[in-house]
Amino acid sequence: MIGFAYIGFGYFDFKYLLFALPGLLLAMYAQWKVSSAYSQMAQVPARMSGAQAARRILDAAGLEDVEIEQVGGHLSDHYDPSSKVVRLSPEVYSGYSMSSVGIAAHEVGHAIQDARHYSPLVIRNLAVPAASFGGNMASILMMIAFGFIMAGMAKFGSIFLLLGIVGFALTVFFQLVNLPVEFDASSRAKTELVSHGIISGSELPYVSKVLNAAALTYVAGTLSSVMTLVYYLMQYAAMSDRDG
Ligand SMILES: [Zn+2]
Repeated sequence: MIGFAYIGFGYFDFKYLLFALPGLLLAMYAQWKVSSAYSQMAQVPARMSGAQAARRILDAAGLEDVEIEQVGGHLSDHYDPSSKVVRLSPEVYSGYSMSSVGIAAHEVGHAIQDARHYSPLVIRNLAVPAASFGGNMASILMMIAFGFIMAGMAKFGSIFLLLGIVGFALTVFFQLVNLPVEFDASSRAKTELVSHGIISGSELPYVSKVLNAAALTYVAGTLSSVMTLVYYLMQYAAMSDRDG
């Protein structure tokens, strides 16, 4: 959706590249970091599997009714708040490694946030429908905006551009409130892993390596969205100036 905006104008704006590049490079670096940290720490053995670690932490938190299921795919691990289920990828579910217990504990961290009504999670969940609606509408509204602009109706164009920006801003808001949720899940994971003796204090850096890399992907994604939003706002301001 991002690059397409300027294809509509028939040229590519190199200023956009300036805004998008830092986030894009960081995202590429984070992707590489996640897969390298994950495969490295998958070699460091743990005392139990990801599923066993998840069960132990959940039970200790009084969350015996939260179930743990296996789900297909690689790094597809997540917590489903609507059905109260922690879903772990096969490698995490049955792997006896620092990667497996770290990721499993992170997902359990989300289950604990949910049970304790951790406020950033509550806000994030409330923001989901608005963000997905806003994200879907943004591309349509911007397409309409550029249609008007190309037809020489700049006034209508700028109205639709502004509406598109508002839609896009809703997705950026979601990404921003998601950051504390992710950081908190990882910090809970580390505390729980050590306090239940699943890993020792000296093994903590191994788990941190995987979780920090995963956190960086969220930071990169958010940075790139914020920069895109700033770019759109500058374009809108420039258009409004031109129109007087
Ligand atoms: Zn998470």
